[in-house]
Amino acid sequence: MAKLLKGIEAAKSISARLQEDVALLKEQGVEPCLVILRVGQREDDLAYERGAMKRCDLVGIAVKNVVLPETVTQEELLAAVEEINKDDNIHGCLIFLPLPKHLDEEAVRRALAPAKDVDGITDGSLAAVYGGGGEGYPPCTAQACVELLKHYEVPLQGRRVVVIGRSLVIGKPVSMLLLNENATVTICHSRSEDLPAICKEADVLVVAVGRMGLVGADCVRAGQTVLDVGIHMDADGNMRGDVRFDEVEPLVDAITPVPGGVGSVTTAILAAHTVAAARKVLTK
Ligand code: NAP
Repeated sequence: MAKLLKGIEAAKSISARLQEDVALLKEQGVEPCLVILRVGQREDDLAYERGAMKRCDLVGIAVKNVVLPETVTQEELLAAVEEINKDDNIHGCLIFLPLPKHLDEEAVRRALAPAKDVDGITDGSLAAVYGGGGEGYPPCTAQACVELLKHYEVPLQGRRVVVIGRSLVIGKPVSMLLLNENATVTICHSRSEDLPAICKEADVLVVAVGRMGLVGADCVRAGQTVLDVGIHMDADGNMRGDVRFDEVEPLVDAITPVPGGVGSVTTAILAAHTVAAARKVLTK
């Protein structure tokens, strides 16, 4: 049986560390504060928001919710972002994407101050991920993958990592973060030929394709660690990943469950980025 890489365990240890960091910051007069900006009432946004608020409460981060109606205009939304940028008591901002179709998402991404961009949506954050240094933070889910691997002490240096997916939210940034850990990274996508053969070369396989159950027994072998980033609801209302867990789990060394894997670490990373952003106040 494969070892289960449980996100909750990694999230617990990150949270314990953050509780100490937040206590120290508060002693120095800094109250870490995150704004969650949501347009509309999408069910998956609401679910993530509840999880994020619970995590922030646990570690001592204050959360302000800015909720705008689905009909909000571009000007009103940009004005809300500008308010957040100007408020020195706000250290981090999470903006739920995608936005409703009538809004210019690029303009909103550009409007947010990279220093407050705790979920890696601005060009400043991407520059930090791809170029090193700079302001901003990697997208939380991408970093959650790396933190989960580190928590379970999965070796990365010199190892072959295959990432399936090349989105700006997960596939590309997680590939860069793993490259920074000195892994040898291959990125696959919908045009990649002979995906199973490439996947089998991996020591660590990161699956972020957004296709329920795309990866099955034909893509894996003994000795591998598999991270399943996918989140889907099946016809029976059960949460499923991009990996056919029942088929893959008996074959590999370690695997993340869905739910309870990568997704469970994401809010802990959001909290960690907010604390890091708050800490920067001390060095201003
Ligand atoms: P996305 O933007 O749709 O990107 C999917 C990527 O997978 C694309 O690069 C696409 O290739 C590639 N792909 C699609 N079909 C493929 C195939 N048959 N073979 C190989 N590659 C294929 O999705 P995303 O935003 O990165 O999200 C991926 C998954 O993560 C989704 O299930 C999403 O719900 C989940 N998610 C999880 C969390 C979490 O906290 N766990 C957070 C956010 C998202 P092309 O570029 O060629 O089209």
